[in-house]
Amino acid sequence: MSRLAPGAVIGMLGGGQLGRLMAIEAAKLGFRVHTYCPETNAPAAQVSSKTVFGAYDDAEKLKAFAAECDVISYEFENVPAACVDILEQAGQNVRPGRLALEKSQDRLIEKTFLRACGIPTVEFAQVDSPEDLKSALNAFGGQGVLKRRRDGYDGKGQKVLRSEADLDGTEGLLDAPCILEAFCPFELEVSVVLARTSAGETRAFDPPHNEHEAGILRRCHLPAPISEETARNAVAATKALADALAYVGVLALEFFVLKDGHLIANEFAPRVHNSGHWTPEACMTGQFEQHVRAIADWPLGPADRLFDVEMHNLLGEEVLELPRTISGDARFVAYGKSEPRPGRKMGHVTYRKLRN
Ligand code: AMP
Repeated sequence: MSRLAPGAVIGMLGGGQLGRLMAIEAAKLGFRVHTYCPETNAPAAQVSSKTVFGAYDDAEKLKAFAAECDVISYEFENVPAACVDILEQAGQNVRPGRLALEKSQDRLIEKTFLRACGIPTVEFAQVDSPEDLKSALNAFGGQGVLKRRRDGYDGKGQKVLRSEADLDGTEGLLDAPCILEAFCPFELEVSVVLARTSAGETRAFDPPHNEHEAGILRRCHLPAPISEETARNAVAATKALADALAYVGVLALEFFVLKDGHLIANEFAPRVHNSGHWTPEACMTGQFEQHVRAIADWPLGPADRLFDVEMHNLLGEEVLELPRTISGDARFVAYGKSEPRPGRKMGHVTYRKLRN
């Protein structure tokens, strides 16, 4: 693929806030974004040049969409692999591509792949029945985290098990294939957001310290309280993963950090990531621009961080309260969602302090 010129059309599968923030950056570089998604009130549709409302298995609509694009990307990892096949058969370049989707959509495949890349994960076991679950829980010392293999996000589709008594109430989850993960006694969580070009050039942002509540990311802090060595190892692992996937675009890998600084990978996302939302405000180049540059075959920008940062997610009605209390130095981003349901990601705010 040759370098895209301003005026070219980037196709984006998915209409959420990640697509919206990428479309805004793409527009600054002169690209037009055509969004493809099933939901009619999608946040990305408000800022896209064009939106096609369609299902991810509607082959005719997908082919017509492909015909109008110069490159296609996606903003969430649950796009069916068959959808990418249709677009590729229509002659399209889909970046980051099918392999990254396949490996990230299923937790069992994902953890197996991370290990094959030499990246440590917690112990895990395939769970297809209550009997599987009981024996895996015993094997992991009576504690673990039961997770649906597919379609879980923000802590949904999972349950922490502290003892055999917690097996009650797992029937609902076991309706679908699951894994049991050993419980990880981590000190803190960090992530690496890294961009890779088709030529294999990579740039990583500083790893943020990510605070979760009820499985949802609440706050990122930079710098993270980890050693330079731990940060270097986290970036090296993420680069190894991106290389193994022949990845083009922005990728995020989440880690647990143990007391001694060792890293255990949790999961990766083949897309821009919530833990990188502070980067446009605090770095030489933000993650959304970086992704657009990579998929357009432009050189990546420098990822250096200029500020110390706190980024807070705004959930539910917090987004309505913020404009009343916001200080002048806070940078506020709203996603254009109309219904502030409890726990729904509605926007974020970044607080910056110049680094000395
Ligand atoms: P996930 O959906 O896998 O990202 O999990 C959401 C959050 O649950 C993580 O960010 C952790 O805070 C916690 N968590 C997930 N898996 C484990 C585990 N194996 N051990 C301990 N905590 C976990």
